[in-house]
Amino acid sequence: MKRVVIVSTGGTIASGKTSDHSVIADRNGATLIATLQDPLDGIALEVDDFRSVGSYALDLPTVHQLVGVVRAHLARADCDGVVVTHGTDTMEETAFVCDLLIASDKPVVFTGAQRHADMPNTDGPRNIADAVRVAAAPIACGLGTVVVFEGDIHAACSVSKTHTSRVDTFRSAGYGKLGEVDNAVVHIGRRPQRRVFADMGLVEGVELIKPGLGSTTAYLDFCASSGVPGVVIEAFGRGNAPRGYAGAVSRLVNGGSHVVIASRCAEGRTLSVYGGDSGATTLGAAGAIFAGELPAIKARLLLSVLMAAGADKNAIVRAFARF
Ligand code: ASP
Repeated sequence: MKRVVIVSTGGTIASGKTSDHSVIADRNGATLIATLQDPLDGIALEVDDFRSVGSYALDLPTVHQLVGVVRAHLARADCDGVVVTHGTDTMEETAFVCDLLIASDKPVVFTGAQRHADMPNTDGPRNIADAVRVAAAPIACGLGTVVVFEGDIHAACSVSKTHTSRVDTFRSAGYGKLGEVDNAVVHIGRRPQRRVFADMGLVEGVELIKPGLGSTTAYLDFCASSGVPGVVIEAFGRGNAPRGYAGAVSRLVNGGSHVVIASRCAEGRTLSVYGGDSGATTLGAAGAIFAGELPAIKARLLLSVLMAAGADKNAIVRAFARF
């Protein structure tokens, strides 16, 4: 008999309608399990109620606490895998933090729902059943943290929520999904490269700035004057930014902040190709680090992890080069 622990954090999957017609996360893990329709033969379930909140309300210390909870379950000889039920809004971020910080080969599987538990066509029960099957599957060992949703299995480092309401919202741009659950059978088509980092927590206060065509440097200048520890810029294309950004990056770096350049493109990697004010070459010369293939929201989390571990600029450059 396999044993899977379900760590419940809230989100739509644990939500219902209130009398004022808003949707609130108010269900615990036992309630979620009670909705399962398909038999999960050979798999015993255990519930750990961690939180009951919308994922938009989570913060980095809470996510770090969750990492510790998941790790503790995985360390048990009688636990074969963990499923984390979580809101979809920030699922790709919490899953990515788990992927960065958890070294165990046992499966860690995130899932949730787009239709809350009081809706007749809620997608929660099917997603939980699929997630549990992945968490119990020997073939899923060594994949790192994954997201299982609408039958698809995605690597935490490449998955994104792409639609505000549809049940097939999760997609992996670039290399695509890892596999799928079909008729209760887990299929894996490719295995991602794993990258696990030292866990000293997550530095709070790394800011994320998304410029548009012709944006000013006002937010960057504010970050420089307030001494933020790090800034991720979601730049254009290969990693180019509006005029004046290289100067602002240089002021930030000289003030002791780390600056990481990601791209707003869903696929491809940053590269110092273009010069001038403020092409990627100029940003690099000003002291910026490039995020490679990592999207900006995940680059922010990796920078938070690396800074908590005391990494210097060279170590941060090497870490991002692994993506
Ligand atoms: N819309 C979200 C969800 O699917 C709310 C949240 O992220 O908690 O769960």
